[in-house]
Amino acid sequence: MIVVLGPGCSLRDKAAVVRLIEARGGRLLVSVVGDETHIGLIDAEAQALAETIGAMPGVIEIRAVAPPYPHVSREHHPDTTEVRVGDVVIGGNEIVVMAGPCSVESAAQMRAVGTAVSAAGARMLRGGAFKPRSSPYSFQGLGEEGLALLAQVGAETGLPVVTEVVAPEDVGLVGRYADMLQVGARNMQNFRLLSAAGEQERPVLLKRGISSTVEELLLAAEYVVSAGNSRVVLCERGIRTFETATRNTLDISAVPVLKQRSHLPVIVDPSHAAGERSLVPDLARAAVAVGADGILVEVHDRPEAALSDGRQSLTIDGFSETMDQLRGIALAMGRRVAPALVEP
Ligand code: PEP
Ligand code: MN
Repeated sequence: MIVVLGPGCSLRDKAAVVRLIEARGGRLLVSVVGDETHIGLIDAEAQALAETIGAMPGVIEIRAVAPPYPHVSREHHPDTTEVRVGDVVIGGNEIVVMAGPCSVESAAQMRAVGTAVSAAGARMLRGGAFKPRSSPYSFQGLGEEGLALLAQVGAETGLPVVTEVVAPEDVGLVGRYADMLQVGARNMQNFRLLSAAGEQERPVLLKRGISSTVEELLLAAEYVVSAGNSRVVLCERGIRTFETATRNTLDISAVPVLKQRSHLPVIVDPSHAAGERSLVPDLARAAVAVGADGILVEVHDRPEAALSDGRQSLTIDGFSETMDQLRGIALAMGRRVAPALVEP
């Protein structure tokens, strides 16, 4: 529920509304929208006061229906939030490409991929050290050793690094090496992990759960932001549907829907949606055209030998061609993708 205070509402009247809510133990979120002041009432306690508040001076409207995620809702923050990771800004004019292997496998692999994606214009380096695998017999990641390799190649290439954290107790460890923490699809509703990610200072890349609605994704983001960390980037990575031709179905419409409902930046992962390398450039272009603020894409120097997700990983040449295509689409959208550092 939102209490709308009109342009003529005096400070004294505003304070009276806030005092009343707080006196009843209610929690609120105040924001200025144009010449109005909006007070979002977060809990039921405060909402029970609707009638009383509606009659107070300066109050011009009580909006009964408010999204249940006040911190991430666009209603309270009309401008898109810019999330800074090192010197990279996600949610501004530049479409940020994050690239790297599914898993960190070795120093040589990370160095080969890191240098190549950086040269092709990627602005962040990805690589999993803690891997959430469907089978306990699949490669589970190098753990801390993988984090160290990722951080080292990040430092060598100058790219901030993003990597997944799968357990609340690992948040501190991963945060010591990574510039951004990824909460993966399988953990989107791991509420203790979300709270732990909200209680530390690294920005968070939150992927949509494999069977989660847009509203559930926004509620998951609300966990992180309400715990104290407002630097959250949402990621559409494909959802499970009846379709079996692709690994997941890229819900391209989720991008404008999320952007309408939330002020958080939205990026797209075409790799986990497609599950197949040949489809990735097409989906990446679609993501830029639909208004995504960034792309998260898997790239491997030898996809045929990858320890995870080789089938969907772009080759280094494939990545650099895709980047050229993305620059063209971005230009048509009035946006930009960083230039390649050297000619591929
Ligand atoms: C990944 O990014 O490698 C990953 C495991 O992604 P998701 O959580 O989207 O499956
Ligand atoms: Mn992967």
